[in-house]
Amino acid sequence: MRSAAAAARVPDNRGVHLTNADLHSHSTVSDGTLAPDELAARAHSRGVQLWALTDHDSVEGLALAREAALDLGMGFLAGTEISVSFAGESVHIVGLGFDAADAALVAGLAAVRAGRLQRARDMAAELARAGIPDAFEGALAYVDAPESISRTHFARFLVERGVCADFGEVFRRFLVEGKPGFVPHRWARLRDAVRWIRGAGGIAIVAHPARYRFSPTLEYALFSEFAAHGGQGVEVMVGAHSEAERRHYAAIATEFGLAASRGSDFHDPDESRVDLGALPDLPGTLEPVWERLASRIEGRADAFAAS
Ligand code: AMP
Ligand code: MN
Ligand code: MN
Ligand code: MN
Repeated sequence: MRSAAAAARVPDNRGVHLTNADLHSHSTVSDGTLAPDELAARAHSRGVQLWALTDHDSVEGLALAREAALDLGMGFLAGTEISVSFAGESVHIVGLGFDAADAALVAGLAAVRAGRLQRARDMAAELARAGIPDAFEGALAYVDAPESISRTHFARFLVERGVCADFGEVFRRFLVEGKPGFVPHRWARLRDAVRWIRGAGGIAIVAHPARYRFSPTLEYALFSEFAAHGGQGVEVMVGAHSEAERRHYAAIATEFGLAASRGSDFHDPDESRVDLGALPDLPGTLEPVWERLASRIEGRADAFAAS
């Protein structure tokens, strides 16, 4: 006999996985604007059943996020989103279900964060040359943890200052390769990011793959190397993906034997196009990452455990 809870995570007769899992979101610990517990409350109020906080290069928000999620009766997975350099592009690797106290993971994340403040000063110097002064102080005013300063905080400053109308304009005219305020940066190596996550007992996932400007050959290289290092998942249902991109990465998941993930990449109620939990269900033909992570889910683990 199948319980209602068990039925919620297997393909039903419409061919989708019905669990409302949101496994990609950001708090004030990185470049989101809600505190970890506020984010948990918003996720819960939007119908999310299984949630992960995935701050950039940090696990600092997880204790508060976990406590809030469990209080609300929501399933919880530890998460982070690691910045990686691959073939000249910044690639993001989400880690889920790891032990957040793992020493190698914590040290690796600290090393990735360490370059951000100097990079931010260099970005501000570039913006000053383009006629926009005081950007370092301006961006810093939006940051809770200075070592996590990111392009998002500069984007908020540029909008506030009236230089740009919105984030879309910021990331067209500034902060990207060839435009003022862009500073190339060396992030983690792909194999290190995957190793830190796996070594801490978690699963590594390629975040929002459609965002990278790779040729088909380089995209194939990314997924081949990622799988060779032990990476296990790819985001299919994610805020940044179009319908065609979702189909493409569903096919990639099948081709490389990867589990599929689902997440809004929520940062802020006004800036983010997709709210927490507001995504199509995963196709029933794909294996959801949360089935591979059943033993790592806290809180309502019974509702999402593999049969
Ligand atoms: P950083 O890690 O400092 O390079 O900043 C990257 C962050 O900038 C991402 O995590 C996003 O939150 C944000 N970002 C990058 N590109 C865009 C874009 N086109 N639109 C909105 N936000 C973006
Ligand atoms: Mn971000
Ligand atoms: Mn990302
Ligand atoms: Mn993200």
